[in-house]
Order: sequence, then structure tokens, then C-alpha cells
Amino acid sequence: MKPHSVTHLLATDLDGTLVGDADSLRRLLHYYEDEPYDVTLIYSTGRHLQSALSLIEEEGLPAPHILITDVGTEIYEGISGQPDRQWRAQITAQWFPERLAAAAASCKGLIPQDIPSRHRLSYTIQSEEPVRELEKKLAELQIPHKLIVSSGRDVDILPPNTGKGEALRYVLQSRGWQSANILVAGDSGNDHEMIALGYPAVIVGNAQQELYAMAEQPHIFRAVQYCAGGIHEAWEYFYGTSKAGVSK
Ligand SMILES: [Mg+2]
Repeated sequence: MKPHSVTHLLATDLDGTLVGDADSLRRLLHYYEDEPYDVTLIYSTGRHLQSALSLIEEEGLPAPHILITDVGTEIYEGISGQPDRQWRAQITAQWFPERLAAAAASCKGLIPQDIPSRHRLSYTIQSEEPVRELEKKLAELQIPHKLIVSSGRDVDILPPNTGKGEALRYVLQSRGWQSANILVAGDSGNDHEMIALGYPAVIVGNAQQELYAMAEQPHIFRAVQYCAGGIHEAWEYFYGTSKAGVSK
């Protein structure tokens, strides 16, 4: 297969970022259609594969080139459901779900979520306290892991070398796409690591407080517009041709 030539790339979260405002989503997609270049799409979501595919269909989203699901633990080629086997092998080597689940079960206030995921344990919380207890316990037991809290409500325990940031870094490196004109977009805590990678990034206007708390950095644009409108605004800022001084 001829390698896909990638000059412009949008790596975006779905719920609350690309999806959430139908009008601005439509305007963004039309805007991309009118540009002289193709925009390669990477979707990175906390949803599991089937749930992500349903959302893509329901919302009429363009098929992505890469679909990252389960908070950056699974990577698929487009919507084919074909997993990236090299990624899967490298994260499985550091995944100890039984030990992690036993530690979580001993913390009061972590309510297990029933999600069909292979490299992820998910819980709901009503306060921060169980998270602190869990962090302490996992550190004591020295079980490799990554803990992600999102929207002040969702807790995910993942293999240590995963998460949306690690997954995106892996995709860009393994495909040789690092030097494309990239925009990373997100709205909540599990997007933090991919926004912090150092590529041009946008925190959309409707983002959760946990993202707004990120330090100001030149590569991070804070949009006023919500959802896809914020992506549009940031794209214009970094790569737009209509504004003097920011064209590329
Ligand atoms: Mg989101």
C-alpha cells in the first residue's frame, strides 16, 4: 500500500470536543473541504471501540485514519477494527489487571464501571477521596499503572505506558507523521497528556476546569468557541490563511 502523505493532521477527542455542537461541526468540515490540502484525522476517545463506532455513525463524522479508544489504550486502523498489534503487545507486557482490581476493590467509594475493554479498569467516583486512597495503595504495592481522572467523575486505571498522550506520540512516530501541521484538541482531564505533548493544541471553550488549570504555554490555544467551533478557531490561529502573520 502506498504510504498516505500527511501534511495536515487533526488529533481530536470526540465527546465535548469534535462532537457536541452540530452546527459548528458542519462548518468545520466544510472549511476543511475547501482547503487545498487533506486533513488526516485521528480520533482519540475515552469510549470503547463499539461505542466510538456508533458515535461516528450517529454523528455522521468522517472516518478517521486512526481511531484511538479506551483513553489511549487501544489503537485501530481507521474504522476497520484492526488493532495495532505492536502497540497492543507492548502495553500488555506491563498490565496486571487482577492485582490492580484487587487494590481498587479495597478502596471505598470506587464504583466499578462495566466497560468491555482489555487494558483498562474504570470506576466512578463521587468525591476525590477514593482516588487519593487508591494512589497511595498502588504506590505501596508498586504495581505499574497510570491513573487518569476525568470530568471529576471517571477514574481509569491503565497500563503505565498508555493514555491519550502516549498513544498519540506512538501513532505519530510509528507512521512518521511528526512533522505534519498538527492540531491536538480536547476538553477534559484525559486529554491533558496529549495537549501537553508540545504540538499546537487547543483547549475548547467548553472545557472542564481541570484542563483550564494547565499552565499557559505558547503551543496551547484557549478557544472561546465551544466544541468544533473551538477547533475551527484554533486551526485558523495556527494554520489559517485568512489572517496576516499566522499563515503557514
Ligand atoms: Mg471529551
